[in-house]
Amino acid sequence: MTCREGESEHKSKPGRYKCKGCGAVSKQKDHLCKPKQIKKTAKK
Ligand SMILES: [Zn+2]
Repeated sequence: MTCREGESEHKSKPGRYKCKGCGAVSKQKDHLCKPKQIKKTAKK
């Protein structure tokens, strides 16, 4: 399983996944080495 190595496939949005290792964003968590779901940010 390879990670995107910092290259985001998608824009960072709530419900998508961000790699804790390299910071890449993807809709599919299996594209990332350490996926973490992006939460909605309530505060502005
Ligand atoms: Zn990664």
